[in-house]
Amino acid sequence: MHPNIKHLVELQAVDLRLAELGALLQNFPKRLAESDARVAAARQQLAAAKEALLASIKDRKKYELDVEQWKEKARKYRDQSFEVKSNEAYKALQNEIHNAEAEVAKAEDRLLDRMVAGEEYERQVKAAERALQEVEAAAQVERQAIAVKQAAAQTELEKDRAERQQALAAVPEELVDHYQRIARRHGGIALSEVRDETCKLCGVRVRPHVFQKLRRDDCHEIFHCETCTRILYYAEPAAAQAGAGAAANTSAQSSES
Ligand SMILES: [Zn+2]
Repeated sequence: MHPNIKHLVELQAVDLRLAELGALLQNFPKRLAESDARVAAARQQLAAAKEALLASIKDRKKYELDVEQWKEKARKYRDQSFEVKSNEAYKALQNEIHNAEAEVAKAEDRLLDRMVAGEEYERQVKAAERALQEVEAAAQVERQAIAVKQAAAQTELEKDRAERQQALAAVPEELVDHYQRIARRHGGIALSEVRDETCKLCGVRVRPHVFQKLRRDDCHEIFHCETCTRILYYAEPAAAQAGAGAAANTSAQSSES
């Protein structure tokens, strides 16, 4: 393998890790915001439940007053009915008494409904309080976990940046420019490994004489894929396997976090 290509392979590996870390680090604020939103929603739910309970208590007081007022009216009519002289006036008062008693019964029904509903509102407030506690505890655990992962990613980022500088320093500047131009066009991947005599990334066959040269340790030429234009390299199967293993580990880590 061309010695510069070897450094480019290292550069590409570190660039891919850096891209993954960048995406990971960008994702943390979003996850924190989602966690905060869950806490805010639970707080909102508790506030709404408390408000409903308060309204129900107010209604209850109002209906209690209604019951008292209609009872008072019925009492007044009854007192008056002892003093009236005419039969007609007496009958009219009996009617009023009957009516007021009916209103007492209705107000008592409404009051009973309120009392039953009030118990339900109290249950809802307690449930919302418990839910908020749970959500807050979960959010705290999540925030701590994110902070730990964030710190680890930051450390890794600094390490990879230093490694990138090392890899960069080993490659001539114009080749780095060339690498970066191709990388920009191809989603950050400027190099393609040759496997089974084909470009691994686009699947197109590499010419036999190019493949022969790529396999030689003293090869000092740089070859490009004729189809996708990426820089080609050939790694001996053992080295390629180790590389694939490392790549699988990185993707496992990123999907886990
Ligand atoms: Zn290709």
